[in-house]
Amino acid sequence: MTMIANNLQQLRARLQQACTQAGRAPQDVTLLAVSKTFGADAVLEAHAAGQNAFGENYIQEAVEKITALAHLPLQWHCIGPIQSNKTRPVAEHFDWVHTVDRLKIAQRLSEQRPAHLAPLQVCIQVNVDGGPTKSGVAPQDALALARQVAVLPRLQLRGLMCIPEPAPDFVASCAVFARAKALFDAIRAAGLPLDTLSMGMSADLEAAVASGSTLVRVGSAIFGKR
Ligand SMILES: *Cc1c(COP(=O)(O)O)cnc(C)c1O
Repeated sequence: MTMIANNLQQLRARLQQACTQAGRAPQDVTLLAVSKTFGADAVLEAHAAGQNAFGENYIQEAVEKITALAHLPLQWHCIGPIQSNKTRPVAEHFDWVHTVDRLKIAQRLSEQRPAHLAPLQVCIQVNVDGGPTKSGVAPQDALALARQVAVLPRLQLRGLMCIPEPAPDFVASCAVFARAKALFDAIRAAGLPLDTLSMGMSADLEAAVASGSTLVRVGSAIFGKR
């Protein structure tokens, strides 16, 4: 077995354990394999081991991999920051975007999404732990942005995403993730049919799953150190 296949097997067991511990069904948490900085060969290895959903941060690097692997049934998620002059390649190549944090980006993605492709699946990135220089919409502005994104014709609003600072322990991690979950529930209660809460990485996926994550984004635990 390759290192990546072995890592994936261990990661799936870890995720299953986290679900059991949280009293959740394993099929309720999707695993996104974050392949940034690794080549198409690494993605191929993970795909051969049963992984189909991949996350990328750097658009140019991602487009090369997506193009090289276009013959495979892979799903590509943009999880990196997007400048407004870089929306077109995202709209043309990705299936999902997790990092929409302002209306202008969402509008451009919707306008640039090619008609022959399915609507772009979108999460709004929320700055749950309040760092002033961080990307993500402020929690108090998330509902208003969600309402505006939800009506754009070529986007399908799916949920929220967050990248909190590493917390000192499980309990502290859960406290931050719980804020994202409360916001997710509040936006659903306001009538928007969100089904995706994208949170949790290699170091904190247990806390994220315990707090209601439906999609964890895992890079180094699968592909190795970057
Ligand atoms: C790199 C990255 C990940 C994966 O991080 P690991 O610690 O390698 O699991 C997840 N989400 C985002 C937004 C990232 O940039």
